[in-house]
Amino acid sequence: MAKIGINIATGSLQKEEIIVGIDLGTTNSLVSVIHPDTKQPIALKEHNNASLVPSIIYFDEFGNITVGEPAKDKLISAPQNTIFSAKRLIGKSFNDIKENASFFSYKVIDDNKEGLVKVQVGDKFYSPVELSSFILKELKQRAEHILKTPVNKAVITVPAYFNDAQRQATRDAGKLAGLDVLRIINEPTAASLAYGLGLNKTVDKTIAVYDLGGGTFDVSILKISNGIFEVLATNGDTYLGGDDMDNLIVKYWLNQSAISEDELKMNQQFAQAIRLKAQAAKIKLSETDIFEEELNGDKLIITRSIFEELIEPLVTKTINSCRAALKDASLKASDVEVIVMVGGSTRVPLVKERVSQFFGRQVNDSVNPDEIVALGAAIQADILAGNNKELLLLDVTPLSLGIETMGGLMDVLIPRNSKIPHSISRQYTTYKDGQGGIKISVFQGERDMVNDNRKLAEFNLTGIPGMPAGLPKVEVSFLLNADGILVVKAKELRSGVAQSIEVRSQLDLTDDTLEKMLLDSITHAKEDIATRALVEARTEGEQLLSTTEKFIQKNASLLSSDELVLTASAMQALQLALTMNDKDLIHTKIEELNELSRPYAERVMDMAVSNAMKGKVI
Ligand code: ADP
Ligand code: MG
Repeated sequence: MAKIGINIATGSLQKEEIIVGIDLGTTNSLVSVIHPDTKQPIALKEHNNASLVPSIIYFDEFGNITVGEPAKDKLISAPQNTIFSAKRLIGKSFNDIKENASFFSYKVIDDNKEGLVKVQVGDKFYSPVELSSFILKELKQRAEHILKTPVNKAVITVPAYFNDAQRQATRDAGKLAGLDVLRIINEPTAASLAYGLGLNKTVDKTIAVYDLGGGTFDVSILKISNGIFEVLATNGDTYLGGDDMDNLIVKYWLNQSAISEDELKMNQQFAQAIRLKAQAAKIKLSETDIFEEELNGDKLIITRSIFEELIEPLVTKTINSCRAALKDASLKASDVEVIVMVGGSTRVPLVKERVSQFFGRQVNDSVNPDEIVALGAAIQADILAGNNKELLLLDVTPLSLGIETMGGLMDVLIPRNSKIPHSISRQYTTYKDGQGGIKISVFQGERDMVNDNRKLAEFNLTGIPGMPAGLPKVEVSFLLNADGILVVKAKELRSGVAQSIEVRSQLDLTDDTLEKMLLDSITHAKEDIATRALVEARTEGEQLLSTTEKFIQKNASLLSSDELVLTASAMQALQLALTMNDKDLIHTKIEELNELSRPYAERVMDMAVSNAMKGKVI
């Protein structure tokens, strides 16, 4: 397959372009490249010698965006405008995160519980894709600044447990940041590559990758054979990490002094100061046996043995996850040949000790655990660039394949550069009540609107029995076989109605057409994603109007005249917003209508429930 570089500044094509590796982390992110002389991966550092960029975004009142260390300072002074842990939201609905909603000190919109989450800052709404793109943009600019050359191509890592939607969203974030994302790879795979594992195709290995970061923990069991990485099992806790260790130290110090946790909450400045001291203590205790400093004249002391006592339960939890992962992989601890340590928190000696003890062998910790994932991504990037000739690339599909969804949007099922053969299925539903058929239109290309892509095939799934909108479950599956032939199937799961079609996906596609399609997708990324956001906002708005209308028709007698009048005018305002090209305005009007209808909708629901209990029909 042809490899082309695109210079976004000039819009021209260029050969021999640099490809960076990016670790887009929950707490910290960084970018890495292969050094042209030594051929070794290096993490790019700014003059302050820091390679890590905190994954934090601050929006000031004028809409300016700051990412990284300066944004971190705003966590306390401007919590509502400072977004951290955006990675936890990517590809998720509010329902997915509701149990941990209190974790976020900024506003996560909760009225559409099924759709993808959004974050509100002031009167603007951001998707996690946009938020991640701000971090990626910062990394891209940093790399360009340090390397003094345009950087347009990247390999980005994601946790092994990320599902298809989360991977696709990460890809979109890269595109929005002006990056051609050549591949999304698993963090544990990248970490293994950084130790040279998998680079010798004749050696098979079973590997455990133990990743303890700032706020998340995961362990993956990988099998490498013939240079192919397979994830046998993953386990972990997405709310467990180094931050919890910091909090345990804070609690310990509060217990030692006369300060209560409530008092701590009252004094945010002090809370932040003591948390920073706790983090410093933890880091120091990875090297020495005692930490001793002062804060506002008070002594803060902690020894390594006390620290280890505090974090013991947390470490045990991670070991239990290792045990569960092994069980899922049907392996014994002794089957694991290599243990790779990833994440800043694996510097804690007790962690190393316990992991080594559990697997019964020494852990690999010689590569910097903060940088290892990005370093591995750079190695993968180098392989993709064709510089590492011994490693044969797997066959990949050159353009994304997907179907048309509401509003003419392209919903990608198989992203470009996916290994083939490849199979995937996803569920869709109907939009109208009693809809008896669904049209499946298959497209190929990188643009967000299907009209800009190439149509491959179209067929109708008919005979769906009459059901209310949203009830039918239509499963669409794509099977791309090794010859590049795509079989698309659609099946309504409740009734069993099914239909399928065979498409030859790469027919007639010359290198020139391919180059043009890819170039178009990058140069139009910004407007494409803006259009997508607008179309999605409109679809959401239209759906809300239709459900509200139905609700009012049915329940008008239960509403006060004030409620009816206010609702009518909020609906009118939303209707008007739908005719304009402003997604933030649409979201604002959706919010307003939701705020207004929520109380009476709940009231009517409660009445329905209590009437049902009395055996009445309403
Ligand atoms: P993520 O993958 O979640 O973005 P990182 O791998 O960057 O996170 O890990 C960040 C965590 O590592 C923080 O909690 C930080 O305090 C911790 N950390 C960094 N250095 C050390 C150290 N020397 N000892 C203990 N913990 C450390
Ligand atoms: Mg990480």
